[in-house]
Formats: sequence, structure tokens, C-alpha cells
Amino acid sequence: MEKETCNHKQMRKINRSAVLNHLRQTGPRPRAEIARDLKMDGTTITHLVRELLKEKLLCVQSIGRSSTGKPQDLLDINPDGATAAGISLAPGSVSGVILNLKGEVISREHIMTSHSISRQKLMGFIEKIIENILSHPSNQSLRELGVAYHGIFPVKEKSSLRTLHLPALEGLDIKSRLKEKYGFEPRLISATRAVAEAEMWLGNMSAAPDFCIVDLGVGIGSVNISSGVIQYGTRGLAGELGHTKIIPDGEKCLCGHFGCLETVASINAIEKKTGAALKRDIHFDEIVHLFKSGNKTVKNIISNAAKYLAIATGNMINLHNPSKLIFSGLLMELGEPFFDEIKLHISESALPELLEDTILQRSSLGDYSPAIGAAVISIKDIFAIH
Ligand SMILES: [Zn+2]
Repeated sequence: MEKETCNHKQMRKINRSAVLNHLRQTGPRPRAEIARDLKMDGTTITHLVRELLKEKLLCVQSIGRSSTGKPQDLLDINPDGATAAGISLAPGSVSGVILNLKGEVISREHIMTSHSISRQKLMGFIEKIIENILSHPSNQSLRELGVAYHGIFPVKEKSSLRTLHLPALEGLDIKSRLKEKYGFEPRLISATRAVAEAEMWLGNMSAAPDFCIVDLGVGIGSVNISSGVIQYGTRGLAGELGHTKIIPDGEKCLCGHFGCLETVASINAIEKKTGAALKRDIHFDEIVHLFKSGNKTVKNIISNAAKYLAIATGNMINLHNPSKLIFSGLLMELGEPFFDEIKLHISESALPELLEDTILQRSSLGDYSPAIGAAVISIKDIFAIH
């Protein structure tokens, strides 16, 4: 793995990153096996392991058995070696998690809010979650905080250009606000990309470097990952699947256009259509319950949404040829019958030659995945080459 052009310092960083990532992917390993797998000589691996143990990024487990039956030391990522926190600011909720170095969630919390929450109240909830993160015994500092942001959010800017479903966030420079109060700047990431980061790091997607994610909730977003790299687009705004047109001359969308996917298949659209059919206001939680108990009106509305989502995600398969298409977000709480309906209709838009190579899968990371992904961006740094 050596390159003559690399100087010694750079080579050490590369080897260090290789050892950490190898252990992350394989689990506990004897030192000799790590050296063999990574083609490192004995001196190099000894120095690196000593350094990583000293920094508490690795730990030793004396429970393994060698081929001769003797106990042997296994090296592993030290879960307590570092922590990172992530917050998700979503329409309807603020949530926060703390991850350990192994990516395990060691603390989580969730505050329900309303879509029309004021900026002041939203900041109050954010600060409450941050105070709880700061007081958690496992947390070392707030230096490693990521914030998953909703809305039309360019990568390099300080705030969303437009937050259609959470107006309090629009133009909110949360970096400066938190710097003023706590003395540090969080790292911002769009919510759907945070979900992608969480899937890449914790969903073991390294074996599938070309995949797509759709995040189905109050808004609908998507991410295309090509060769393990998130595709951002020129201004970092790629992935606005919810605002692709699905019905010419359809209903007006919050974005100002007509007939967007979000007008027929988002949680807002489903709540609106169910409310109109039942002639009363209804929350998505109740819709999930009615759907699962077989309510015909709700089943028809959900079935219709699933058909539109099948068209949109089938188009994604035709455009990107992913090996996997992962479905995440609150809408997936409708369960397997809803997912089956999407899968049933997806062949009507995805070409068979592309669909046969695409695994359609539900995310296993749950409701906290945007907050988890926001924390993952800091955890990843420890494993990277700097
Ligand atoms: Zn739209």
C-alpha cells in the first residue's frame, strides 16, 4: 500500500485511517491479521496500534482464541473513545442523539413541535436538546455537533433558501446563533443527505457504492450516491424529488409550481386528502392506525400515493441505475403493505433491465436517522485521512 510519492507523515495518516476503517468493517481482529489484511509490516502495525491505544481510539479484548487454542488479544474500535451529537430540525419535531465511536446511539430524545412554530420557540427547543446533550455523562464536548436542516439548503450556505414546511427555519443562521451562545459552530447538513450519511456509515453500504435513498415525510427528498460519493449538483441542491412534476396541471405545491410529487404523496398531502374525505382534521398517526386496521377510504388514498411514489422512484432507477434503492422517512411507518404497493407498481416505470439489478429496501435506522446522520459526519472525521 506504500506509494513512493507519499512522505512519511502522509503515509502514517493513510495507514492509521486504514486500520480504523478495517476494524470498523470487520469487527475485533488480532493485530497480526490486521497487518496481513492491510499488507503492513510488523513495525508499522506495532507503532500505529500503540498510538491508537494511547489516544483511546482502539481497545483490547482478551477473549479471542488462536488456532492453537491459546487466548489472544483482539483489537477493536473503542466505543468510548469519542462521541458526537446530532440534531434534526424537522417539520413537527426536534430530535437529538449522541453516538459513540462505534456509531451506537447512547442517548436520544425527541420534542414534538408544530409546523407553524415561531423562531423563538424553535430556538428554545434546540437549546433544550443541546443542554441535555451537554449534561449527558458520556458526552465529552459539543465541538462535534451536526445539525440536519430541512428545506432547500445549498451545501456551502449558512441557512436554507426556502423551508416550505417549517417557516421558522427560513434564513435562520443557526451557526452564528449557537456560536454566540455556546462558543462553537455546528456543522450543517440537509436532512435527506444526513439520512444518506447514516445509511453509508451504519447501514453497511460500503458493499453497494452506487445506491439511492428516498426520504418520504412531510417533504420528499432523494439522494444519489455514486461510487460512494453523494452527488450534490452545481449548487448543492440535487435531490428535490418531491418537486418533480408528476401531474400536469395538478394541485398547487408550496414551491409555487403545480402537480409536484409532494402534492399527492407527502404526509401533508395524505393528511389533507384524508381530512377532506372524512370531513375533519386528522393527524398522520391516526392515518397509520386506520390504514393498518383496513379503513377503505384511507387505503384508497394511501394506494394512490404509493402509485405516484412508484412512478417517481421507478424514474430514479432509470436515471441512476442504483444497486439499491432505500426507502426511509415517516411515511414508511405505514408498513409492509404500503411498501408492497410501491414495489408492485414500480415496474410500470422502471425498465426491467435496470430494475432486476436494484434491491428495494426499507431503511433500518428509524425515525432518528437524520439526527444520527448529522452526528455521523463528525464520527467519520476521526476515521478519515487528514
Ligand atoms: Zn413543488
